[in-house]
Amino acid sequence: MALATASSSCSLARNLSHFSSSSSPSLPSSKPSPLSPFFPCRRSHRTVFCSAAAAPPSSPFTEKSSAERYQRDSWVYGSGVLLPVSAHQNFSDRENEIALQLPELKRLLEALRAARRAEAAGGGGRGGPGSVSLVGTGPGDPGLLTLKAVRAIEQADLILYDRLVSNDVLGFVRADAKMLYVGKTAGYHSRTQEEIHELLLSFAEAGANVVRLKGGDPLVFGRGGEEMDFLQKQGIQVKVIPGITSASGIAAELGIPLTHRGVANSVRFLTGHSRNGGTDPLYVAENAADPDSTLVIYMGLSTLPALSSKLMHHGLPPDTPAVAVERGTTPQQRMVFAELEDIVYEVKLADLVSPTLIIIGRVVALSPLWPQSSEEAVVLKTGQRCSSQLE
Ligand code: SAH
Repeated sequence: MALATASSSCSLARNLSHFSSSSSPSLPSSKPSPLSPFFPCRRSHRTVFCSAAAAPPSSPFTEKSSAERYQRDSWVYGSGVLLPVSAHQNFSDRENEIALQLPELKRLLEALRAARRAEAAGGGGRGGPGSVSLVGTGPGDPGLLTLKAVRAIEQADLILYDRLVSNDVLGFVRADAKMLYVGKTAGYHSRTQEEIHELLLSFAEAGANVVRLKGGDPLVFGRGGEEMDFLQKQGIQVKVIPGITSASGIAAELGIPLTHRGVANSVRFLTGHSRNGGTDPLYVAENAADPDSTLVIYMGLSTLPALSSKLMHHGLPPDTPAVAVERGTTPQQRMVFAELEDIVYEVKLADLVSPTLIIIGRVVALSPLWPQSSEEAVVLKTGQRCSSQLE
């Protein structure tokens, strides 16, 4: 079994040495993982799939199947109503989520208003409406939070959070702050966008310091713009605290320089989902089949088959390097490296689930993790090695 070191695993990067300034990227620094340091890998020519475990046991995110989030939100559900919960609970009984939460929220709102009236009567109080901060929390690793984000989270009275906010990030929330899950999952919407707007408005009007947490950056496929627009029109002050978008966080984790000089002269963020009435993302893809550009596809798992064949049809070479990364930057990260013509098959084989980010372009081959040959092993992260077992 041959194990490559970080630098010797970059032979494909060296293959690209005709691009003038190509240099071997260094491996991202490792972070402690509760899981085995050895990732099982299945390798074939130009393809490698690595996972933290055969099947990730639980989600690092606050999505609806996260037991942690129910425990955190227990103030809303009330003791004994639905707790204790397990990650394997049948969530059909969650259909009533809104009905369960609204009365409690109403009581909270009344309490806030009463406190303000009392303050005003006593001649004190802050007066005026509160504010809303749209805060990006990055792709999952709490180390990628900004200081501004941490401060905002620590000072919040009420936190509304999405499903792609990681449980680790919620560790910064004050014990007495109220938290409300407003995440959406494909095929399951716990709250409509309009309800979220109304909630933000009501609490800000009642003087609360409201923090709206969103995975990645709030203004990158996060609907942050819509919330900002709505609230500003109602006279509420909105602050935006940027987050590290998953494209940047994951590219850094994998050692992919998204716009490496001489290899890619632009990077394009695409969504795989079409908005009702909006431009079909696959149409956009037709214009994005540019070998000199890097494509990053958000929410692209279901449209990947159509997207990849369209890209090849419109001239992107079938051997263009690509990678799909599930739960990037978390201990449960799984990833599949393959050439464009194989990526759909490999992603299916690995059974990747949402959230998965896809990066397509020659820069992917500059990653120290890009597979070299079936003889070589790949060092995944410092101290986290892929063995060279072939299946
Ligand atoms: N505002 C977010 C994007 C929200 S859209 C950001 O800036 O990153 C949701 C999509 O983002 C997911 O479907 C997935 O494609 C991507 N994504 C977000 N976090 C991710 C993660 N940790 N791992 C992989 N993909 C992620």
